[in-house]
Amino acid sequence: MKFTPVLLPIIIEAIADVIEENAVEVTDLDQTLGDGDHVINLQRGIDALMAERAELSQLGWADAWQKIGMTLMASVGGASGSLYGTLFIALSKAGQDKELTLQGFSNVLTQGVEAVKKRGRSDVGEKTLLDVFIPVVRYLHSATVAETPLPNVLHQLSEVAVKGMESTRDMLATKGRASFLEERSLGHIDAGAKTAQLMICAIIDVLSSHLTSPT
Ligand code: ADP
Ligand code: MG
Repeated sequence: MKFTPVLLPIIIEAIADVIEENAVEVTDLDQTLGDGDHVINLQRGIDALMAERAELSQLGWADAWQKIGMTLMASVGGASGSLYGTLFIALSKAGQDKELTLQGFSNVLTQGVEAVKKRGRSDVGEKTLLDVFIPVVRYLHSATVAETPLPNVLHQLSEVAVKGMESTRDMLATKGRASFLEERSLGHIDAGAKTAQLMICAIIDVLSSHLTSPT
């Protein structure tokens, strides 16, 4: 399977849908641990990407990621805007002239996630969206992936993302607004981890359906 930006409009639409469907639940989570604006922040970025989606699908990956990153930086407020903006700009830098096989993409994503870690001065275990992204990257680099058929890799990747999201429930928040709550942050899923999982799973669903589709 070739991953091409031709799928980007479908992916952006799938992300818009999944965030809308879960808006109430995620806002609840961000009201508990943060300031309640996480869905609004993300939707501002998604709306901007929806407007650009046709144009994005005409670009190569590196240029598409660069444009997505710049758009997110400019349109999304809050911590998540600068973190996702950083992610996509780093993907663009790392993905320049790279062939996007699964392995190639895994390497590019690793560099993107490293840039987010630096930007947020955070790591796995701090009750953030990184508790989804870091396990996903680790899974993609695990020894089993190379010998596993792509549909199974995608399926397992969804499970890793869900597990990562759920792992934030019992973590103490040490970064972002939730850290002000100290022990009171325990027992709640992080909103940013939840939306990261929802968006990753939506992307995986689009890719999976294009793998199995006869056309
Ligand atoms: P803000 O916290 O500025 O209101 P959002 O509500 O849009 O921004 O996003 C909050 C989410 O961003 C959190 O749920 C968390 O997952 C993530 N986040 C916040 N700070 C950091 C950080 N330093 N490193 C990684 N992720 C972070
Ligand atoms: Mg917030």
